[in-house]
Amino acid sequence: MIRDLATLVEEARHVVALTGAGVSTESGIPDFRSDAGLWQDADPMDVSSIEGFEADPERFYAFWKDKFASLVSATPNDAHRLLAGLESRGRMAAVITQNIDGLHQRAGSSNVHEVHGSFRTVHCLSCGYATSIEELFAKDPNEAARCPRCDAKRVKPDVVLFGEMLPPAFGAAQTAAREADLLIAMGSSLAVYPVAGLVGEAQHNGAKIAILNRESTPFDDDADLVIHGELGKLSRELMTLLGVS
Ligand code: NAD
Repeated sequence: MIRDLATLVEEARHVVALTGAGVSTESGIPDFRSDAGLWQDADPMDVSSIEGFEADPERFYAFWKDKFASLVSATPNDAHRLLAGLESRGRMAAVITQNIDGLHQRAGSSNVHEVHGSFRTVHCLSCGYATSIEELFAKDPNEAARCPRCDAKRVKPDVVLFGEMLPPAFGAAQTAAREADLLIAMGSSLAVYPVAGLVGEAQHNGAKIAILNRESTPFDDDADLVIHGELGKLSRELMTLLGVS
């Protein structure tokens, strides 16, 4: 099976990857599905919506602070390294990612469309003051939301919360998906729209679709190739077959 994917990559001229939380679980970052307890102590709309953030920014940071801190210390794994290695050999045109962890860039991928934003930077919704998450957490965590420039409690990570528009990166991702002649969806349940719709858009424009995931997705039946397995192992096998180190 993995040999079939290597052949698809070798035959393609414009390969695009669409990644989800599953590419980062082997870096120690839980996905939403496996992490049944994520919402145990909080209502998702209180801590993951723009309305919840505006209503109580302290509650937002109390919930996310430790989770963001674990993202800062996470390092890329072989799935990220595979995609970066393919790009450096001119075999990966773009990575579209739903992840906010920045691990594709840290592995060396440069053409990355972060369609749900990034937790690494923050900005004030009132005055536009911008800084990094490290600098934000270096000060009093209870005051993380307070803007040092305008004093509004509206400093927010640059991640897309429920109720917010998708960033311009989504338009760029749509273009990349339409240009692909092979789209590889990796580590995503393909259940979150509109991003999951990019699979259909790519296919409609002539791309072959390969899906690599631990469990089945709603797009499996229409895909050209489906491999159910662990991404670290599959990525190492593919690196060997394609001569990517
Ligand atoms: P998801 O949680 O809905 O799906 C992840 C998929 O990956 C699941 O089907 C799971 O079976 C599979 N998976 C997990 N580990 C795997 C592994 N090692 N090998 C193979 N498959 C594996 O994630 P999603 O589709 O990205 O959508 C959820 C939303 O949550 C996204 O919007 C994303 O922005 C956000 N999120 C991001 C992160 C991150 O930045 N790392 C983490 C959690 C959630």
